[in-house]
Amino acid sequence: MDAQALAVARAVKGFMPDAEGLALHEAGLDGGRVGPLLEIGSYCGKSAVYLGAAARERGTVLFSIDHHHGSEENQAGWEHHDAEVVDPRTGRMDTLPFFRRTIEDADLEGVVVGVLGDSLTVGRHWAAPLGLLFVDGGHAQDVAMADYETWSGFVAPGGVLAIHDVFDDPAAGGQAPFHVWQRGVADGFRPLATTGSLRTLRR
Ligand code: SAH
Ligand code: MG
Repeated sequence: MDAQALAVARAVKGFMPDAEGLALHEAGLDGGRVGPLLEIGSYCGKSAVYLGAAARERGTVLFSIDHHHGSEENQAGWEHHDAEVVDPRTGRMDTLPFFRRTIEDADLEGVVVGVLGDSLTVGRHWAAPLGLLFVDGGHAQDVAMADYETWSGFVAPGGVLAIHDVFDDPAAGGQAPFHVWQRGVADGFRPLATTGSLRTLRR
């Protein structure tokens, strides 16, 4: 991965250790041979830089979907809250300015296409096959499973499905992403790799 993008990815706030980010980058290089990359959950752009750098290497693009108002687990009083990303005018979270700055700093504006909106709304109107789908949006059971059900069918044959925050031990973290992974296996996706809480599968 190129040095400028890697430095930006490492510095930006987010919930992805570098080893998982690098594994995500590898998955992007893999899926990028098949078609464009798409992630659900941009937040401040950390994973978008790891994936965007891969998209650039493959001559394709990354679509990064987020309404930028945060998931349930990002709101005030919850574990993953960061007061710095609250818009003082509305009192709501707004990570869009952070995301934009990250993509600009990484020099990826030609490659990373931010999609501002609700993942299910976008998915209902989507039509293009994908080389990689990265599921890292809302982590509640119904939300994560709805993202899988809406989006997994767009992964092209040979493409990659990546899921973040997968913990098979309930003591280690929420179970929804693990249930999505199990559902993917049941639907015929073949497990490829595990790096920390990142799991990849192939269609
Ligand atoms: N991939 C990011 C982290 C994403 S955190 C990184 O590596 O840094 C989860 C994100 O999903 C939050 O920014 C939240 O706003 C977004 N999100 C949650 N539910 C969503 C939905 N239904 N549609 C679009 N975005 C959603
Ligand atoms: Mg995550």
